[in-house]
Amino acid sequence: MNNLDLRETDNKIDEIKQIIHEKYPESDVSQIDKAYQLAVTAHGDQKRRSGEPYIIHPVEVAYILAQYKMDMETVIAALLHDVIEDTKYTYDDLVAEFNEGIAYMVESISKITRLNYQSKEESQAEYIRKMVLSMSNDIRIIIIKLVDRLHNMRTLEYMTTAKQREKSRETLDIYAPIANRLGIQSIKAELEDLAFQYLQPETYAALKEQVARKREKNQNYINETVKLISDKLKDSKITAKVYGREKNLMSIYRKMKKTDSTFDEIYDYYAIRIITENVSDCYSILGDVHMTWNVIPNRMKDYINVPKANGYQSLHTTVVGPNGTPLEIQIRTQEMHETNEFGVAAHWKYKEGRVSTKQKDKKFDEEISWLRQLIDWSNNFDSASEFLETMKMDFFNEEVYVYTPNGEVIELPNGSCPIDFAYRIHTDVGNSCIGAKVNDKIVPLNYTLQLGDIVTILTSKTARGPSRDWLNIVKSNHAKTKIKQFFKRAERQENIDRGREILDTEIRKLGSSYRELLKQQNLEKLAYSFNYQNLDDFYLNIGVSTLNTGTILKKLQLLFPEIFKKEDEELILTNPSKRKKTDILVSGIDNIQTHLAQCCKPIPGDNIIGVTTKANGISIHRSDCPNIKNIHNKDKLVDVKWNDTNYNKYQVGLYIETFTRQGSLLEILKPFYDLNIPIISSSSKTVNDNDIFTVDCEVKNLELLQQLVKEIYKVPEVLKVNRI
Ligand code: MN
Repeated sequence: MNNLDLRETDNKIDEIKQIIHEKYPESDVSQIDKAYQLAVTAHGDQKRRSGEPYIIHPVEVAYILAQYKMDMETVIAALLHDVIEDTKYTYDDLVAEFNEGIAYMVESISKITRLNYQSKEESQAEYIRKMVLSMSNDIRIIIIKLVDRLHNMRTLEYMTTAKQREKSRETLDIYAPIANRLGIQSIKAELEDLAFQYLQPETYAALKEQVARKREKNQNYINETVKLISDKLKDSKITAKVYGREKNLMSIYRKMKKTDSTFDEIYDYYAIRIITENVSDCYSILGDVHMTWNVIPNRMKDYINVPKANGYQSLHTTVVGPNGTPLEIQIRTQEMHETNEFGVAAHWKYKEGRVSTKQKDKKFDEEISWLRQLIDWSNNFDSASEFLETMKMDFFNEEVYVYTPNGEVIELPNGSCPIDFAYRIHTDVGNSCIGAKVNDKIVPLNYTLQLGDIVTILTSKTARGPSRDWLNIVKSNHAKTKIKQFFKRAERQENIDRGREILDTEIRKLGSSYRELLKQQNLEKLAYSFNYQNLDDFYLNIGVSTLNTGTILKKLQLLFPEIFKKEDEELILTNPSKRKKTDILVSGIDNIQTHLAQCCKPIPGDNIIGVTTKANGISIHRSDCPNIKNIHNKDKLVDVKWNDTNYNKYQVGLYIETFTRQGSLLEILKPFYDLNIPIISSSSKTVNDNDIFTVDCEVKNLELLQQLVKEIYKVPEVLKVNRI
């Protein structure tokens, strides 16, 4: 690189030092030289696509930031912003040469650069999440990144068409909205129009041409109107600057799209701006304007009293202008104007001295409260696409500003209702919302919130959650998502509960000694074996029948062979059908197959009777079983009796009715445990204020069962205990 190449950048560096010295006299501007030299050495012979030395880019970025009156650290970080990414210099080098704050900014910018923005929603959301996080650590990082992008967009012509489109898309999706949110209108407008130019070259050119033609045609009218207002203000002895301003092309185009209008129908593409010295002058001017022309109703907006969330302040009104068409007039102070144009960047202008990474004053913190909200949201959405959609809809669109009763400003999409407001305050407030007051009057939930409304949400602890109708009323994507989540979760919980019950019942059916399978760790092992990360997801899939119990039982045998092996042995010992000979004696017949009837489930001690069947040998019933009374052919009946040496367990069902009282179930179950009677399954329901429990358990004989029933009756709430 020869010296000639650097003459231009050398001059820019001198200018930067000049600006910084004037604004921050205590800054040691030799640090700027040092950063410049390091960047020149580091980038060496690197060239931009245009063929120019690479160093032109960081110097240009630093120069724009100096013009924004950003502090010296920001300018230095800008000079070094591509050094970690593109050269051999490291974070530690920059800490050693400068300080941690500067090194941190440069490294964060490199991290954002490395993220690959793609059209896939997942990575877009991740990209935004990372940017937002870095912003919250030091807002200067994002300001450098915005200006970096601005300079790259200005020099995009050297890139391939594909690259131009990709960068433009990204600029429109992410950078322009962030500039808007930070209140940096000047950067937002330029970024938008540059991206517009590359994405829709023909539309852009045509609109640009239309605007130019109209400007020429209206030139005299505009000049006259400006002069008319200036003279009036002079008469009122108010000092003010009056001029015309045009919307940027992208804004005009967006408005045409949104209102389905032609360019000629967009009357506010152009407005008169009046910049004065203090707030009271703003209102006096507003009065003058309203005296001079007819006001178009409902167009007046007082953003001085209720600033936008990005800090924007101004009075807007629309009048019928001198030529009979609507004319928007914007009135503000010089300080407001700078904040409106430069947003957070303007903040540095009113700050004396340095701004350190950690030192953030309260006002500034309030200014970027939306940032914290965004971070909060980014962690609270189920999917990246939900987050992205909400952010695009709710954060980067036109908004209405309302107050909480405490005076906190809440920003919502235009057309929002109190439910949107409730969900913005907190999801729980939304879910328990039963009504709303606006400016102390009860309003319906579909009331459209107006600028400056003070909104109070009425909630109830017993509210059953949102109504599905709300989905048609709310405007913000945030509220919509939260309401949908509520229903999704409620449904999910139902399915989880159902799944858990199904599995529980299946395992209990296996018998008491399989109960070990129901231990938390065994169930978790089972869930993992089906690739579920947690039990809830596992139960959910059982609940919605994506997993069937047959598959699960097979898996259980594979996973817990020891339990099944032990059980198989016990089964031979205890299964009544296999041990029938020991338990039941059939008079006069030896070695005959018997089984216990399922209708009455006899247990040792019950009076029993046998019924011969065609296929299954003898079926054993209780003598009082209704099915026996219905047998007319008495020849089928056989005398049977219990063998004394029984050691099997028999299933029996109990019906228990109680007065409803919390905790009574525990007391009812206690005798089962005390008597060591295993419960196989249980269920409960409430009928006419009474609780009805059905319990399947295993007992050895009637004596034990009678003892159990006696114990259950001791619980005061128990009304009735029946054998099923
Ligand atoms: Mn760069």
